[in-house]
Amino acid sequence: MKPYAFGVDMGGTSIKIGFFRKDGVLVEKWEIPTRTENHGANLLTDVALAVLSKLAEKGIKTSDVEGIGMGVPGAVYNDGFVKPCANLNQWGGFDVSSELSALCKMQVKVLNDANAAALGEMKFGGGRGHKNVVFVTLGTGVGGGIIVDGKLVAGVHGAGGEIGHMKVKTGEVAICGCGKKGCLEQYASATGIVRNTKLYLEQSGMESALRQFETLSCKNIFDCAKAGDIVAVNQVDEMTHMLGKALANIACVVDPEIFVIGGGVSRAGDIVTENVKKYFSLYAFPATEDVDFVLAKLGNDAGMYGCFTKIAD
Ligand SMILES: [Zn+2]
Repeated sequence: MKPYAFGVDMGGTSIKIGFFRKDGVLVEKWEIPTRTENHGANLLTDVALAVLSKLAEKGIKTSDVEGIGMGVPGAVYNDGFVKPCANLNQWGGFDVSSELSALCKMQVKVLNDANAAALGEMKFGGGRGHKNVVFVTLGTGVGGGIIVDGKLVAGVHGAGGEIGHMKVKTGEVAICGCGKKGCLEQYASATGIVRNTKLYLEQSGMESALRQFETLSCKNIFDCAKAGDIVAVNQVDEMTHMLGKALANIACVVDPEIFVIGGGVSRAGDIVTENVKKYFSLYAFPATEDVDFVLAKLGNDAGMYGCFTKIAD
């Protein structure tokens, strides 16, 4: 058995690299900048150099490394072909797995970053001990990953787990980043709740502590909701309502054991899981109701752990 493997999470500003023992112990992690100029022409050579120089530094042969699992912010086909990524200056459009494998002389598997985070949370984080997990990440957008019997559902177009674009509302006038209307992301992302709260404050004469903030943040809204501000409470309610509804619909399809909620918004804590659970129960098909809701545990390392899991398992 080869004793080591790498998990590499390629983000828009930095690339997180983890060097792991195959039993799951993280030996070392570090970051390198994401150089997106020239459509990311240097990205794979940067990753290869980082990986190979770490092995040289430690005196470890490439033949002792199982390979590299790598997460990217875009759609991935067949564990290798990456569609051009908006966050990486349109890098992609080729078989990333084969190219990186040729540079490093080891096996490479590529997956979507939100799917990677789902896998990481299942194996090492909030979903530990479970094999049927739905992971949802609430940040600038809403992403996710669906795991059934321990396996990711990545889909034929690499769009499996794109929970953010489930339709949860009719009559929406604003357009989502995907070009359609009424997507979960428009209500349950940090960007969404801030946008909707600002709109409400503009249109209503309600007194609210939220009016004191010059640039309103998602954290402001949750903090004010915890302090009992009625406008903030209602906005959190609306957001978790949409999320609870979406998760109830997902449960009808995959009937999971546990929902793991991560991303920046989840830092607000139990207020998120408790409210989502309340609305989930309102909509859930009765047979799917016995399910847990937990917060993610790995933070920004979830993707890196998931990439390791992809190559090591
Ligand atoms: Zn959308």
